[in-house]
Amino acid sequence: MYIANAVFILYIEVTDLFHTKSRLRVIIVRCPYCNIPDSKVTDSRTVGENVRRRRECVRCGLRFTTYERVQTTALLVVKRDERRQEFNKDKLLSQIVLACTKRPIPYRDIEKVVEDIESQVQNLGKPEIKSSTIGEMVMERLRSLDRIAYIRWASVYRDFQDMESFEEMVKDLRGDSESNEEEATLSLLAKNIS
Ligand SMILES: [Zn+2]
Repeated sequence: MYIANAVFILYIEVTDLFHTKSRLRVIIVRCPYCNIPDSKVTDSRTVGENVRRRRECVRCGLRFTTYERVQTTALLVVKRDERRQEFNKDKLLSQIVLACTKRPIPYRDIEKVVEDIESQVQNLGKPEIKSSTIGEMVMERLRSLDRIAYIRWASVYRDFQDMESFEEMVKDLRGDSESNEEEATLSLLAKNIS
């Protein structure tokens, strides 16, 4: 048995008649003996996260086995200084956990925020996304989850070119803060701004 390591998985973006964009997964497997890209699949089964396929080369007739795993293409996050970094779900989670420190928010809810954002970001089908866009997505969700966490997040991650609207937001929230803790956080922020 030969385990081929020359499995190429390509993603091709296609637009159908209804203008719906989708991604096609195309797998190219070359025969390890004669290198042609045509083989017949004679057996296919799932082994853990992989799919094990028995293949037979259509030219030389030799058989080989591939273990295939779907790998989504890396999504790049564009930072304010134009540097690119691979989207990192764990990093996003720990940033949000920090904003939620000592707040009565179940950990599962925070994980759910990250999962929602991950799928939203993947559904955009774009290779790159601005870090500020992700920041806004987090803000939107924290707003309905916990106001203190929301304010903390906004103060750290919102684009500071947008200082005026941030001041406005703090003012608005101060007008109807629901607890002393909220009031304290907001007045501290107001002080830092002015
Ligand atoms: Zn062959």
